[in-house]
Amino acid sequence: MLIVQKFGGSSVADADLMRNVAKRIIKTYDDGKNDVVVVLSAQGDTTDELIAKAEEISPNPSKREMDMLLSTGEQQSVALLAMTILEMGYPAVSLNAHQAGMITTSTYGNSRMRRIDCERLKLELGRKNIVLVTGFQGMNRYDDITTLGRGGSDTTAVSLATVLNADLCEIYTDVDGIYTSDPRIVKDAIKLDEITYDEMLELASLGARVLHNRSVELAKKHRVKMVVRSSIVEDEGTIVKEACNMEKMLISGVAGDDDVARVSIIGVKDTPGKAFDIFSTFAKNQINVDIILQSIGRHGTKDISFTVSEAQFPQVKEIISENLERWDAKDVDYNHDVAKVSVVGAGMVANTGIASRMFEAMYDANINISMISTSEIKISVLIDKGDMKKAMRAIHDKFYLQDL
Ligand code: ADP
Ligand code: ASP
Ligand code: MG
Repeated sequence: MLIVQKFGGSSVADADLMRNVAKRIIKTYDDGKNDVVVVLSAQGDTTDELIAKAEEISPNPSKREMDMLLSTGEQQSVALLAMTILEMGYPAVSLNAHQAGMITTSTYGNSRMRRIDCERLKLELGRKNIVLVTGFQGMNRYDDITTLGRGGSDTTAVSLATVLNADLCEIYTDVDGIYTSDPRIVKDAIKLDEITYDEMLELASLGARVLHNRSVELAKKHRVKMVVRSSIVEDEGTIVKEACNMEKMLISGVAGDDDVARVSIIGVKDTPGKAFDIFSTFAKNQINVDIILQSIGRHGTKDISFTVSEAQFPQVKEIISENLERWDAKDVDYNHDVAKVSVVGAGMVANTGIASRMFEAMYDANINISMISTSEIKISVLIDKGDMKKAMRAIHDKFYLQDL
């Protein structure tokens, strides 16, 4: 069998943890005489520390140089783990993005994997090496290093599993599986044995950072068998797959995301084409706009509010200041103290009353809702950032602890 394993930053944070991970990898390599490809993240908080170092030097560092800097975290990890495995008497080799032939789109900071030229990987596997590959990065057409966005090592793992036609892609992390909500915030969160790609994709996109959303998207597209499990405890974990055998639960999870900012464009002329003009400008600049709310026109003007990720906020601000006049708008207002809380579930389509239950939970907890958005499988509300954890607990309690 060919198995791809990915270990997150906290799983390889120091030498002891490295040794623990090395033992688990060796067990897989020995057990079934498997070929093993391992993807690693940077140790512990390395990526955050590197970002802080850059910010000490420049408030708005060059994106190219930022990727050059951040990619070093993962490079340290693979070299150290290779040394650990060699020290234990097993064959291992580390490869960076260039050596592993990982080619991405050209965008720095948030690139997408385009293809993997796997000759070197196959050569090393043929030599019976345990192959350790840097997560989160690739090379673009200018031969520059790019990164895949925060949490992107999961996507590296699934990409490798896809091109190598792996039998299994295991994501090892600091929790023992996927829960109905972040178990660090909601103490009654329930561990799931399995979850569908669609539900996990929605949860990940709405803030459940246990998996990078693009890794789930890719796994779904190529039917990669994926499992999330603990790097410390030997346990079954959670399988992410196409369809689940379990009786369908009404909702599959509650997610929180405080990496959002709310933007309001005020006093836009109330004529046709304004929303198109505004949002096509953002789309052209690859800005992902999320919840959108437009007020009723009054005295010939209207307000348009929407949310964006904090990461894209500086670019959004620039676009607005360049276009506000052209859009015929009077003013703009920003709020960073917001968070988005969502319930997700494929079972929602056929059930009325999910939204009202969610709003009831918010009322019980005395939390004010400033924006709402719904789709067939999710409902999201925008609230004050300080209320996020309380809201997640209240909503989770309402759906899982109280009788439906
Ligand atoms: P890694 O460094 O291994 O990639 P991450 O920090 O990216 O780990 O992801 C694991 C974290 O995801 C957990 O510690 C947990 O707090 C968080 N998390 C958020 N939502 C969920 C969920 N629904 N199930 C499990 N963990 C979740
Ligand atoms: N080290 C990167 C990050 O902290 C990538 C990853 O961990 O997946 O975001
Ligand atoms: Mg992660």
